[in-house]
Amino acid sequence: MTSAGRFAPSPSGELHVGNLRTAVLAWLFARSTGRRFLMRVEDLDRARAGAEAEQLRDLTAIGVDWDGGVVRQTDREHLYAEAIEQLTAAGLTYECFCTRREIQEAPSAPHAPLGAYPGTCRNLSDDEREARRAARPAAVRLRSAVEEATVRDVLHGSYTGVVDDFVLRRNDGVTAYNLAVVVDDAAQGIDQVVRGDDLLPSTPRQAYLASLLNMPVPEYAHVPLVLNADGARLAKRDGAVTLADLALAGVTPDEVRDVLLASLGLPAGPLKHALAVFDPAVLPREPWIWPGLPGAQPGSDTPPRTGSHGA
Ligand code: GLU
Repeated sequence: MTSAGRFAPSPSGELHVGNLRTAVLAWLFARSTGRRFLMRVEDLDRARAGAEAEQLRDLTAIGVDWDGGVVRQTDREHLYAEAIEQLTAAGLTYECFCTRREIQEAPSAPHAPLGAYPGTCRNLSDDEREARRAARPAAVRLRSAVEEATVRDVLHGSYTGVVDDFVLRRNDGVTAYNLAVVVDDAAQGIDQVVRGDDLLPSTPRQAYLASLLNMPVPEYAHVPLVLNADGARLAKRDGAVTLADLALAGVTPDEVRDVLLASLGLPAGPLKHALAVFDPAVLPREPWIWPGLPGAQPGSDTPPRTGSHGA
């Protein structure tokens, strides 16, 4: 299998300029290293009808293309079930009956890192487990043998983070993101993961899980997020931040693409121009503050300014 990068959006709504910027970066990282670029829709949770089509349309509009068909996680449950069975057969899982509240209120183990599962259900007796099964459905957790793991990241260097007994399958039967992402990346031959750096803290868990499943650990590049003027992570409520909003204000997808490229120090125009000069070593390491677009109010007839594109 040839090597590949990917973009893996959750179809919970339209992509905003922060998501689009990450997609452009993932595309540039993959294409500049001769990798295939795959599109995976992470629809196990929070999927909204119609969002996938909007997201794919917007990616195409800014010039992000991909190889082969779109893969959807909801078509791949058998792969996740197999991985959980494999771990269970090796004694590496256990059932957990804790509610969120019980986890919050449980005394944490001495020296346990903040936010780590306190291990309440780790050593239940058979009788205790039977009794709890009658009361509520179980989640499945990993029986981790480590408390932390270290990964290498192209932009962050060596990064060490918590590995606890994290959830593999939720008690409503939905496969957890951390399991699905590891199984999918390995099954699709993805050896380069480029995504927002809000996911860096989850990465040691994923790399550890990959090693337990005898799957290769990909190369990681966690890229800076886009922030609003208050320094918070950009969100829909921050005004015109999707291609559809911006189009209403007269801003074209090409202009949005060029603003995003300028924020990365890359030349305007079709992505192949940026590809020709792309160098991860000189990428900005700081979050980028979305400047907003003056005049970008829906219905406004003021011509919008789009930064790099002399209008
Ligand atoms: N689906 C995740 C998201 O949209 C990204 C997961 C990943 O890239 O590993 O936040």
